[in-house]
Amino acid sequence: MASLPPTRVHLFNSSGSPSIDVVELARYARRLLGGAEVRHYGDFIGYCLGACDPSDAERLKADLAEMLSEARVTDLVGKRDRTRQPQPVVEYERRMLERKPPRPVGVLYDGFDLCAAYDLLLSNAGISSDDLVVVITNLLFGTLEGDDGRYHARVIVFGSPCVVSTSGLVEAPARPRAYYLEERLGVTTPQEQEDMPEKWLRVNDPRTTEVLKGYVAQAIFYHATGEPFCEERGCRLFNAHWQEDLLFSQLESEAEFCEYHDRTVKTLSRRYS
Ligand SMILES: [Zn+2]
Repeated sequence: MASLPPTRVHLFNSSGSPSIDVVELARYARRLLGGAEVRHYGDFIGYCLGACDPSDAERLKADLAEMLSEARVTDLVGKRDRTRQPQPVVEYERRMLERKPPRPVGVLYDGFDLCAAYDLLLSNAGISSDDLVVVITNLLFGTLEGDDGRYHARVIVFGSPCVVSTSGLVEAPARPRAYYLEERLGVTTPQEQEDMPEKWLRVNDPRTTEVLKGYVAQAIFYHATGEPFCEERGCRLFNAHWQEDLLFSQLESEAEFCEYHDRTVKTLSRRYS
């Protein structure tokens, strides 16, 4: 298999979540990629704006606020026309850029448009486009799916950078069917649902860092091989659509990767020597 692992990895934590240990995630990436240089940072937006020339920063913020306002999904169904948003929305996005994480969540962004806006930031920050960049955010994003023509929340979009959402971890993989049925029938109270923490991830869940290791691995595989996913449920690269599958592949499975991906990880590490 033709694979070329990244020589440098940059991990940004823009989530503001107390449950994310970016140092541990960097250690994990270093373990997978024996010879890569792995750097970790705090907020991606603050870092990139700080790295560019001050005279460029204001213009960049204005451009970015435009792009982020246009990345907002206002209709969950059907093809989206990317239209200019009213000035107060653009202004709001601009103010959010100047805030420290966690930034307020409440808007769904188009995942690829968000990625494009972050790519603009990245190109001004002096990070090589050959490097793998992973941005962990609490913003919620989704992608339009061909199957039903609707937006679905996502945990990760692959691109430059790869963007991973902590809100997506909670919202995107579905909870057990019984949860939705019981909620509809009013069989369980919200308090009773809160008392069942092992079945799905919560906001700021203490298991978040361990689960995110799988998404860091997916970003690495995407960058090195073009294929981030695996069909084996016990592999960290499994593309989980259900919370119980997510928790199984990232926490409960005895093996970290399936046999095939275990071999691939070893191949990637050898590439550095
Ligand atoms: Zn696998």
